Parts: sequence; structure tokens; C-alpha cells
Amino acid sequence: MTGTLRIVGLGPGAEGLITPDAQAAIDAATDIVGYIPYVKRIAPRPGLTLHASDNRVEMDRAAHALSMTAEGKHVVVVSSGDPGVFAMAAAIFEALEGRPDWQALDIEVLPGITAMLAAAARIGAPLGHDFAAINLSDNLKPWEEVTRRLRHAARGGFAMAFYNPRSKSRPHQFGEALAVLKEELPGSVPIFFARAVTTPDEAIRTVTLDEAKPEMADMRTVVLVGTAATRAVGRFHYTPRSVPEAGV
Ligand code: SAH
Repeated sequence: MTGTLRIVGLGPGAEGLITPDAQAAIDAATDIVGYIPYVKRIAPRPGLTLHASDNRVEMDRAAHALSMTAEGKHVVVVSSGDPGVFAMAAAIFEALEGRPDWQALDIEVLPGITAMLAAAARIGAPLGHDFAAINLSDNLKPWEEVTRRLRHAARGGFAMAFYNPRSKSRPHQFGEALAVLKEELPGSVPIFFARAVTTPDEAIRTVTLDEAKPEMADMRTVVLVGTAATRAVGRFHYTPRSVPEAGV
């Protein structure tokens, strides 16, 4: 029996945003591996084993998925959104380092709709020009590196999407991130707090950078930051596709 490993993104929440390819992989799976809330999104059925694990055990989870694939199972590793965006795909490839036996397995990454794109679609086109996606969690990089990157993105004129903006274990950091933005950008720049997009709990709030407060974000929120050029049209916001001159 030849095993398969599919690294799948479940999209931001709505069933209609799961791609047909991702659904087909789930329907063909013998084993589903992932973080507890994502595995909960998979309907149980006979012949399917669900392996839900806690957060922060990505490398154990990756090794488990690869060893089951080597045994001949049809394994699907699930992430929310897209599996390549702050999620399991990179962890699987990291686990392949130094393992030629695992590198020979039938492995495929199936893309999904990432949170920032679902959020941007609700707002209009705030990421309509160049943008940077930044993970504000300091689990895997020092906090000084997080603020350095967002300062450079702001100076570079990029719109931004912040993933993992705030958690109970690091309540002050998002306030520091907003303070860095306030040093670099006009206070009129629009900030979008998009919470639980495409789920029944969805809430989208638009404020200016001057009005933005840390408590407007939680771990279910992706924060989009406009540029000095981002503007409102009717009930939408968009960032124009053209930049009139260098450094604007
Ligand atoms: N792989 C996922 C991101 C995982 S990191 C993706 O591509 O979307 C987890 C972070 O994603 C959360 O802290 C939040 O910032 C964001 N996120 C995931 N789903 C979301 C949703 N439905 N609405 C808003 N933000 C979401």
C-alpha cells in the first residue's frame, strides 16, 4: 500500500471557502492530523481516524503524519486558511530535513483561502497594491524582530496584515506594535479589525490609526493596516493600484 500526505488549508471558516480539491483529499483520507479546533471542523465517519493535538507541538504532529504516511495511510494534515501561511506546511518540510526516506513519499500541498484575503474581500480591496503579511506572535521569533519588520514594512509603504495579533500570554505587545505604527504612519491611516471572518461570529471594525486600541484585537482577529493612499469609496475601502511617485 502506498501512502499519501496532503497538507490542506480549510479556509477561514465558511464551508463554501473550502476548495473542492481540499474536500476531495479529506473525503479520501484515512487519518486527519491537526490542531484541535481545526480537526473539529472535519465530520467523523467510519474508516476515518481523527488525531487532534494541542498547539505548539507542530514538529511532533509533522513527524506523526509522515510516519503514518510511510505506513501506507492516506493522511491529511489540516490548517485553517492556507497551510503555507503561518501553518503546518513549513513544519512538514522542516521534518523532512535529513530524512530521505520521508522525502520520497507522495506529498502535496493544497492551498486554501487565507484569513487576510477573506478579510480584505469584506472590506473592499485594502491590499490592492503591495503588502506585507506579518505574524505578531513571538513564539518563533524574538519580539524585537517582529517590531523591526513592521517598522520596515511601514517605512516601505506596504499595506499590512497582522496574524496572531494578540493573546492572553502577551497582552501588551500589540499595543507596542500600534505605537511603532504611530511613529511611522499618519494617524489617519485606516486600520481594519476583522474577527472570525466568514463564521457566525464575524465582526469587522474600521478605525483610524489614531483611534486604534490594543483591545480591539484578539487571537481570532486578523488586523489589516492601510497605507497613506488607502481611501473610502461608499461603504468600501481600497488601496489604489498605482503609486504616483517614489516614496509616497
Ligand atoms: N493558516 C492560517 C493562519 C494561522 S495563524 C491562514 O492562512 O489564515 C492564526 C491567525 O490567523 C489568527 O490569530 C488570526 O490572526 C488569523 N485568522 C485565522 N482565521 C481567521 C478568521 N476566520 N478571521 C480572522 N482572522 C483569522
